[in-house]
Amino acid sequence: MKKSPISKLTLESRTFYVKRDDLIDPYLAGNKYRKLYTLLKTPSHKFNKIISYGGTQSNAMLAIAAMCAEKDWEFVYYTKPIGETQKSENHGNFFIAKNLGMLHVEVDYEFYKDFIASIRMNLDDKTYIVDQGGATEEARAGLEVLAQEIREHDLHVKSLATPSGTGTTALFLALSLPEYKVYTTPCVGDVTYLKEQMSAFHAIPENLIFLEPEKKYHFAKPYPEFLHVQKKLLEAGIEFDLLYAPGMWKCLLEQTDEEIMYIHSGGVTGNESMLQRYKQKGIYPF
Ligand SMILES: *Cc1c(COP(=O)(O)O)cnc(C)c1O
Repeated sequence: MKKSPISKLTLESRTFYVKRDDLIDPYLAGNKYRKLYTLLKTPSHKFNKIISYGGTQSNAMLAIAAMCAEKDWEFVYYTKPIGETQKSENHGNFFIAKNLGMLHVEVDYEFYKDFIASIRMNLDDKTYIVDQGGATEEARAGLEVLAQEIREHDLHVKSLATPSGTGTTALFLALSLPEYKVYTTPCVGDVTYLKEQMSAFHAIPENLIFLEPEKKYHFAKPYPEFLHVQKKLLEAGIEFDLLYAPGMWKCLLEQTDEEIMYIHSGGVTGNESMLQRYKQKGIYPF
């Protein structure tokens, strides 16, 4: 496997480096590629079906769909009921994933939680479950590969940054690179919640630094200041995702001053749907 390249980016007169994991593949990229690495390297005949669940615009969903198309595995994805608008959309992660062969199954709100808890029962050994967002212990091996690439780039920069949802990426990256500082920020919930999620996997290492956003942001809601950061990033030459990256960049610009390598976590395929929501709110076009 080829190493993903590094780009230089100038933002507010500061130099940043970006590890371009977004360029690995159109759909199976970013941290989802890293998190699914172990499964991707598993011989196709070991499984015939992958099950997962979660949101309908999830980047993990799209990455799993792309992986299953490549491996010729059936992919069943469970979600809560969704609206007609979304079913008929002809762009975005959900649309692309269905075109890649994903079987979408809606589960009623009242049964959802119990249903998800029950999918592990009666599993045959050719079926594999990927937990929501790809938050599994198996993700660690793929992040060690990323860590090794970062070491081999041998840049003078010793601080890294990556935004957190479940926190799996930031945690395993920090554990794999104790000689680097790893900055992260919670994009779902707050720092306390994020630390709880991480602690389920491993004690939090000292080199993992949590940056607290200046105000509380709700996940996947449109915010003018996020769009503002996005615009600056686009002008600097790189497109990032609109759900996680703007919060991380804001924290880096406001709360750090050294040279940092940002690990691009992918997810740009979701931007079109998100920009539509910004449009509906009247905050886009810029
Ligand atoms: C999934 C995702 C994240 C969050 O990764 P976690 O390992 O769950 O913390 C961050 N950025 C993007 C673009 C993602 O798709």
